[in-house]
Amino acid sequence: MSQAVVTESEVREYIESVYETVIKRNPEESEFHQAVREFLESMEPVIARHPEYRKHSILERLVEPERLITFRVPWVDDKGQVQVNRGFRVQFNSTLGPYKGGLRFHPTVAAGTIKFLGFEQTFKNALTGQPIGGGKGGSDFDPKGKSDLEIMRFSQSFMTELYKYIGPDADVPAGDIGVGAREIGYMFGQYKRIRGGNEPGVLTGKGVGYGGSLGRTEATGYGCIYFVEEMLASRGLEISGRRVVVSGSGNVSIFAIEKVQQLGGIVVACSDSAGYVYDEDGINLDTVKRIKLEEGGRISDYVNHHPGAVYRTGSTNIWSVPCEIALPCATQNELDEASAQLLVNNGLLAVAEGANMPCTLDAVHLLLNAGVLFGPAKAANAGGVAVSALEMSQNSMRLSWTFEEVDSKLKGIMQQIYRSSLEAAEDYGFPGNLVAGANIAGFKKVANAMIAQGVV
Ligand code: NDP
Repeated sequence: MSQAVVTESEVREYIESVYETVIKRNPEESEFHQAVREFLESMEPVIARHPEYRKHSILERLVEPERLITFRVPWVDDKGQVQVNRGFRVQFNSTLGPYKGGLRFHPTVAAGTIKFLGFEQTFKNALTGQPIGGGKGGSDFDPKGKSDLEIMRFSQSFMTELYKYIGPDADVPAGDIGVGAREIGYMFGQYKRIRGGNEPGVLTGKGVGYGGSLGRTEATGYGCIYFVEEMLASRGLEISGRRVVVSGSGNVSIFAIEKVQQLGGIVVACSDSAGYVYDEDGINLDTVKRIKLEEGGRISDYVNHHPGAVYRTGSTNIWSVPCEIALPCATQNELDEASAQLLVNNGLLAVAEGANMPCTLDAVHLLLNAGVLFGPAKAANAGGVAVSALEMSQNSMRLSWTFEEVDSKLKGIMQQIYRSSLEAAEDYGFPGNLVAGANIAGFKKVANAMIAQGVV
């Protein structure tokens, strides 16, 4: 059978047209545009080699969410005043399994944020090798300064609407920025109350006492460091003795710091949205945990406990601290081109994205061109969702694995994600480029299954 010959420029034009449609259909959603752009940059050789993907309009279907749900979330604050927030759930792609992805509570959350996160989640979840599709959700609710009762009332109201769209075999949310075990607990309680039965598999990141998995809290941070170990090993290097900077001081950051320290690395700086602390002797993680997990304080409090440390305002200035390994673990677009250049000038070896899309596209290009080992979010922070899927498995089987069992499965998954990303990059002409490799490896799994399932 003869196959039409497609030129490089035709493929490029086709991919560009897909991107233009995304811009037209999703005006002013710049974060979503950015995530799609980064992904499409890897697609040229794939589309050129596999005309079937174009015939089945796989790209066009992938960039269009299956469903975007928005809803009103009314709740009563401690003064008796009614407040109104907006809730979102994007059910992006269910080809490989139930929609899976976290919920973010942060004032910046808008449709474009949720779409960028859901789009990336689809490929990340495919990379884990587990049967989960891509989704994401959240609200523009700001948990900062809210009482525990306000958090509970908001979480319950949010779930009172969301429950209609989720379920253990349909859509399984988890935590993200501003949503941890406390919020998941309140939402789980409300879901159970409305549904009238016990369906532990409907949410992950639950407390260990009622269906949560050991190791889920640590999974994203630990997984990110297992990924860094693989990247460094490719150059015969290890973490021990290296200076590391970790942005943020939330769930991902804290457990990335913990694993780096267990492996003998020295974390000299971490941050929150207001500023960063620099501690030449190495950050004391017990102090950070106490401030952030127990007291709900600011990272600036750190210097009260460690007078030798320095606090500076401006969270993104953290990248001026010289280090060999930089781990952006806070939020999107927190590391730009100028910061990347500064890090390279200061002797940077490796970057792994603990957060989602923390590096701007220009920063990613600069780091790759400078020969820095670069672990993209889709691969490097996939450990969280991977252990969430292990939580779903344990819930279905009604049993609990030990921390060691979960941790060793997590490590195996991170190593497999590294290998499959590296191989895909090599195979499609991007040797050593894990950004392209992760995009291609994730894409091919979803694309092939989409073709098998017909036009849906
Ligand atoms: P947390 O809410 O636990 O912590 C977020 C941290 O980032 C805090 O230190 C926060 O500071 C800081 N931060 C938030 N927004 C901004 C901002 N606009 N500018 C600067 N700093 C900011 O969230 P997680 O640790 O769970 O999530 C962090 C990142 O990791 C996100 O990108 C998330 O999508 C990603 N991720 C999380 C996973 C998980 O399992 N939790 C899984 C995979 C990815 P402050 O307290 O001042 O707001």
